[in-house]
Amino acid sequence: MFMNLILLGPPGAGKGTQAKILIKKYGIPQISTGDILRAAVKEQTPMGVKAKGFMDSGALAPDEVVVGIVEERIAQQDCASGYILDGFPRTVAQADSLAAMLHNKGTSIDHVIAITVDTEELLKRVTGRRTCKVCGAGYHLLYDPPITSGVCTECSGELYQRDDDREETMRHRLAVYDEQTSPLIAYYADRDLLRTVDGMGDIVEIQQKLIGVIESTQG
Ligand code: AMP
Repeated sequence: MFMNLILLGPPGAGKGTQAKILIKKYGIPQISTGDILRAAVKEQTPMGVKAKGFMDSGALAPDEVVVGIVEERIAQQDCASGYILDGFPRTVAQADSLAAMLHNKGTSIDHVIAITVDTEELLKRVTGRRTCKVCGAGYHLLYDPPITSGVCTECSGELYQRDDDREETMRHRLAVYDEQTSPLIAYYADRDLLRTVDGMGDIVEIQQKLIGVIESTQG
């Protein structure tokens, strides 16, 4: 089944978590511009050096940088049956570029699913996130703690908090979302592509709702 899916929602809505489950079910890759940018920062590529300041402060990276990333990524072979975009587009300009890019390839977006979660819960989710420095496994201090505090249960690596997950930066990211990304809700609703899923509740329950939405409109 060919499927191009956009997961839309504020930081902490569960886009990445849900994308990781959906890619297994549908056999298509997840494209997270945040993950690609973080890898570039770590490797100190020219793009990473340019993006780091924006990311650390919770601002958005320039549109042309992320549009370039996505254009390159979707041209790869593993995207031939579609993909799940997680964290892109984040501005109307990015959405317009994506539409033009897909039009040139003779494809289009199949689904845009907005995941909604209230602000208090977003703050709790994001500030409690921890990641293993060695294997990249994800944890949450309240919802999914490691067996030993600060240590990865999988590989004993050290856990760390993303700089942009600290409370002050997260509040700024939420403001950036409201200002620059939330207009995409109306953008995709106007194009009759938007579906909404309540993202409060447990991971499996939300996953089932997402699959329900995808399968009721796929075709
Ligand atoms: P994320 O992991 O999706 O929360 O992204 C982390 C950070 O990467 C964001 O706060 C932005 O600084 C940057 N970023 C990721 N995706 C985009 C995008 N589509 N447009 C602009 N900046 C982005």
